[in-house]
Amino acid sequence: MRPPRGTSPRPSRRRPTGRRTTRSRPSPRNCTTLARRLAGLRAQWIWSPWTAKRLTGLLPVLGEAVRRGVRVTVFVRDPYDTGQKKQADLVKRLRAVVPTVVPVNVMHQKIVVIDERTVLLGSLNSLSQSRSREVMLTIKGGHFARKILTHEHAEDFARPPSCGACHGDEVDLRRRGNGTWYWRCYHRACPARRGDKAWQTAVRFSPSGRR
Ligand SMILES: [Zn+2]
Repeated sequence: MRPPRGTSPRPSRRRPTGRRTTRSRPSPRNCTTLARRLAGLRAQWIWSPWTAKRLTGLLPVLGEAVRRGVRVTVFVRDPYDTGQKKQADLVKRLRAVVPTVVPVNVMHQKIVVIDERTVLLGSLNSLSQSRSREVMLTIKGGHFARKILTHEHAEDFARPPSCGACHGDEVDLRRRGNGTWYWRCYHRACPARRGDKAWQTAVRFSPSGRR
């Protein structure tokens, strides 16, 4: 909530709680705020179902982070998703900058985890939002950040295999109705493709990863 103009003192920077909400507005300022946060030091994890024009403003920041040795991992919707199909070119540009971009079928999480210390969690598609009003909650603290990464199987899902048939990297992550996770090749010319059938393999979870 913004206080009435001119009547409230500036909020203390030494707030006792580590939680606060950030109202996300369709303005360049908002993009800049995220860009500043993304200048993380060691690792950035981004779950943004869709990519759009907003990504172009963030690509230089992500590229700079990668050059500084920051481990950047981005999860986006698979390229045949209705909303993502139109943005194939942007995803290509994202892949050219960020070494690990994982397409995930029907993903809808909007999360950013920075340096295993800061979590942004809410309704904002960090790589696509432009006009809608959204909300992001900033939660500081390593315990919660690690908990989110474990909950999202971040490490296990950040290692898509190459397709066992075409050996390409057009592999997305999917979940069956019974809850099991698997990787599937979406390359249209893959030799394993027969109608709806495609090469697939179960996700291998590390011993510490929950299924
Ligand atoms: Zn294949």
